[in-house]
This record gives sequence, C-alpha cells and structure tokens, in this order.
Amino acid sequence: MTSLSNATADYRARDAAHHIHPFSDMKSLNAEGSRVIVRGEGAWIWDSDGNRILDGMSGLWCVNIGHGRPEIAAAIQRQMAEISYYNTFFKTTHPPAVALAEALARLSPPQFNHVFFCGSGSEANDTVIRMVRHYWATLGKPKKTVLIARKNAYHGSTMGGGSLGGMAPIHSQGGLPIPGIHHIAQPYWFGEGGEATPEEFGIQAARELETAIEELGEENIAAFVAEPIQGAGGVIIPPASYWPEIARILRGREILLVADEVITGFGRTGNWFGSQTFGIEADLMPIAKGLSSGYLPIGGVMVSDKVADVLIGPGGEFHHGFTYSAHPLTAAAALENLRIIEEEKLVDRVRDDIGPYLQKLWLALGDHPLVGEARMTGLMGALELVPNKPSRAHAFPDTGKVGTIARDFSFRNGLVMRAVRDSLILAPPLTLTHEEADILAATAKKTLDDTLAEVKRLGLV
Ligand code: PMP
Repeated sequence: MTSLSNATADYRARDAAHHIHPFSDMKSLNAEGSRVIVRGEGAWIWDSDGNRILDGMSGLWCVNIGHGRPEIAAAIQRQMAEISYYNTFFKTTHPPAVALAEALARLSPPQFNHVFFCGSGSEANDTVIRMVRHYWATLGKPKKTVLIARKNAYHGSTMGGGSLGGMAPIHSQGGLPIPGIHHIAQPYWFGEGGEATPEEFGIQAARELETAIEELGEENIAAFVAEPIQGAGGVIIPPASYWPEIARILRGREILLVADEVITGFGRTGNWFGSQTFGIEADLMPIAKGLSSGYLPIGGVMVSDKVADVLIGPGGEFHHGFTYSAHPLTAAAALENLRIIEEEKLVDRVRDDIGPYLQKLWLALGDHPLVGEARMTGLMGALELVPNKPSRAHAFPDTGKVGTIARDFSFRNGLVMRAVRDSLILAPPLTLTHEEADILAATAKKTLDDTLAEVKRLGLV
C-alpha cells in the first residue's frame, strides 16, 4: 500500500504542476490533490491506492457498455491495422464511416436516415447551430436564425454549445452567449413548480415556448433545442404533460425541433433514444457519449429526411466539418459498441430488467429524511436533498455545499455519484447487475445517513 500511496502523491504533484482540468478551480484542486483512476472493469473503477469504486456515473454519462471491454480494443486494433486515419472531406469515405452511418440510420427513429459526424457533443451542437441556419437560408428564409433553448440546459462548452446551454457560470466567461440564442424556462417541477401540480407546471413551462415565438416572431426563429431529460442540469425529468405540449406548440409552425440526445441516446432511458421514451419527433438529434461508450471520442448529428432533403441538393456545399469527422478508429469503436448494445439487448434490459429493478431501490431512498424527491427514468436518476421535508424548497444555505458533502461521502463509501446544486445524480452503466444495484442502493443509503449526521453537526438542519 505504501508504494501505491507514493505513486498517488507523485501523480498528484505532476498533475498539479502541468495539467489544467476542465470545469475545475485549479487552485483548490491542486491544494486537495486529484483522485487518480488507473483501471476499469464493468461497472467498477480502481484508484491509484487500490480502492474499488462503483462507477455510478458511467464516467461522464458515457460508458454505457461498462469499462474494459476487450471487444472494443480488438475492433480498434483491427481498424488500426488497415488504416488509422483518413479524412472524409475531399470526395472520400472509408468502411467504418459507411457502416456506422448505415447502423445509425437503422437504429434511430424512422425519420433519420443521415448523419453528420464530429468529435464530441459540443461540436454536434455547434454543427446544429450552423446547420439549422443554413437550412432556412437555403429555403430562402435567411432571417430565421434564432435558436430557442432553455435555462439550465447543457449543450457543451464551446462558443456555440455553451451559448445554447443555459448555465449562468458558463455565460459569465468568454463573452457568451453568442447572438441569436434565446432561453426559456426549464420544466423543473421540484425546484420551480411552486404550487402547481407537475402536470400543470409541465404545460406552463412548455407555454414559455409559445410566448417566446410570439415575442420573437416565427419568421425569425430557426429551431427549438432541448434535452429530452436535462442531464448536467440535474437529471430533470419533465412532467408527462411537457413534451406533448411542446409538440402541440410546434405543430404547423416553421420551426425545427432539435432533441439533444448526447446523454439520453443509446439506451439510457430504456429506448434507443430519449425521444422515443417521450414521444418526441425531432428534426435533428445531436449524439455523442454512448455512441462509442466513451471508448474513443466521437459525436454526430442525426439528420431527418426533412432537413436532409434541403441539405443534400439545394443546400450545396455545407462549409463545415472537422479533421476528425468520422475518424476511422472512433467509427470502428462506435460500430463495435452498437453491436454489443444490440447483441446483449442492453436497451431492453434497461426498459424491462435492470431499469425497473434499480428504480425500485432508488425511489425507496425518497423515504430518507434528507431526500425531498427521488426520481429516475431508465438508468438516469436524482435525489434532491432538502433540510425540511416535505417542503420542496432548496432551502440549504450556501447552495451546493450539502450536495458536495454528500458527493464526497459517496466517493469515500465506494460509489461515484455527482452533485448538482444540492442534489445527487446517477447514471450507471447499462450492464449493471442486480447485485451491483443492491450495492449501489445500500451505499447511497449510507451516504445519505453520513450526510445527514454531518449536516446536523454543522447545524444545517
Ligand atoms: N449535450 C449534452 C446533453 C451533454 O450532456 C453534453 C456533455 N455532458 C454535451 C452536449 C457536450 O458534450 P461534450 O462534452 O462531448 O462536448
């Protein structure tokens, strides 16, 4: 153990000396020292001190098939032996790009038969911004440029993705948002529903879209962009009334609907896409994460026939693309990942087996004195921590402090959960076993008990 601990100290010192982490306050992180993850297998990861931790976040919502799958390594290696890199810009394609595009057309909802590849979810959303504006310009409506998105949405951290997202801390740096993005309310009943029932609130939140369209003018609007379930915003599962009301508002209007499926795609909600879980008929779907289960970075935008018919033909050249669009190795990894999801029937498993099994255990945590609400769809869940149950108000002083305390206990207890404000969120691999689900729920329960004791000690309840 001593030598391992020395290794940890060494990694930490070198990391602190040279590495700037994403979304991190580097001064305090360097003072505390980073966790060093050295290995993964299935739903488990190991740190450099030999601790085994259950990965309740699938990395960053992406390792849908679990860690350490040798089939993916073999697929990458096979492709590497043929050719590791070639571009798809200049009248060129390659077998993994062809096969992956074909597989995605088959697995996605029927209106999608084309895909534009990129390297990440942020790039996918940046692509959406340019693509929807190009679509309307091609149709002779160049004024239709505004994208309506939602407060507390997450669509990436590039200039486009960060602007489309509705997160104030992101907007506070680097001159975001870019012009032409308008944000409306999120369907977050627990936090913002007031006295309304969830159903009433779902309608109310959706109607902000109607109001925004009336104010901005349909002739200026290109698209409405939303995650079927907000992930990074705190696993915000919309009331059942929300998406049907959005559909009603958009019906007959010349506004494209973009469902950001970067988290909700590839089985996470118990269907191939979150759009199917909520009955959303999107025109475009940004995808990433579960597309390759994070084994290699790849993203894309699924393009419906309605948009493809304009893009391919009258649209001419779309002056957009990335060196790594359809990178052969990432495409080969994604293809093998899709094969595994299909062969192991992981989507059915989330819908009919491990999903309902974990949901039952998770929702029971709602009885804990610290939990104001436990919610989960598919394998995507949240626990809202509150000081004075049954009130739904986020009434802890210094929002985020209790969430962070709970998150740190969870890690120490051997389970990765993520804190968003004062909630804990969860998205384990789709391969999670029943036994692992039992461990997960018991560890989450212990984490809540530890957090309650600490919160009491600090006089916060
Ligand atoms: N869209 C959504 C819904 C996401 O959750 C994320 C990442 N968490 C992104 C886009 C951005 O993806 P990336 O980090 O791959 O750029």
